[in-house]
Amino acid sequence: MSFDTYQLKQFAEKVIPKKYLRVAGLYAMRATIPFYFGKKVACPCCGSKFREFASYGQVKRANVLCRWCLSLERHRSLWLYLHEKTDILSTPVKVLHFAPEHQFQKLLKDADNVDYTSADLDMPTAMVKMDITNITFPDNTFDVIICNHVLEHVPDDAKAMSELYRVLKPGGWAILQTPMSDNPKTIEDITLTDPQERVRLFGQEDHIRTYGLDKKDRLEKAGFEVTLDPFIRKLSSDVVDHYGLMIEDIYLCRKKA
Ligand SMILES: [Zn+2]
Repeated sequence: MSFDTYQLKQFAEKVIPKKYLRVAGLYAMRATIPFYFGKKVACPCCGSKFREFASYGQVKRANVLCRWCLSLERHRSLWLYLHEKTDILSTPVKVLHFAPEHQFQKLLKDADNVDYTSADLDMPTAMVKMDITNITFPDNTFDVIICNHVLEHVPDDAKAMSELYRVLKPGGWAILQTPMSDNPKTIEDITLTDPQERVRLFGQEDHIRTYGLDKKDRLEKAGFEVTLDPFIRKLSSDVVDHYGLMIEDIYLCRKKA
């Protein structure tokens, strides 16, 4: 039994209203679970185990999508990191979650120690409608900000970074993951609008840049103290395969206390 989940998703986006899409996708994927009974892979976000994850992606990747919570490699890597390496689930924290991944939204909302706010310009599931370059919270409001795979969409990413820095409390930290390349410099063109050219240059039709190794400098310019945490790289290949993780550095960005 094989599902081309990416093509199915593209079709569904045309025929199902946006606010029902995620739920429709969730239940369609959960219907595949009986065919993939097993324990070879496990999702740290939802605790489910399967014989294999589902395939997904514009360029199809095998064994990547959780059949229960729809997490991908990057979600599972980050959740494992948050769980193992931070105190986000144990200390009282005020959290701002931009473009809220639903896998984390529920987990963080349900955590007793987390005072949780999610925000986005378009997402119907976000609690606050907000432009990341014009954040409507006062300075020094949040202990933690989670903002993943957002900055590569934002024309004025320097403004977005400085706004995130502004609303972070001194001593607070932010996780700001994006797609990365090994190029020394970020490749960007905010004037490019042709979707196919954007896919060719930046990997996705709504991306306007691919960050290079100078992403750290850009974040430091906004004020952050940046650590590239190699936590995921240091895990054994057995653990990486079992959880289906994305191997990447975590951009841990702090505001000096
Ligand atoms: Zn899951």
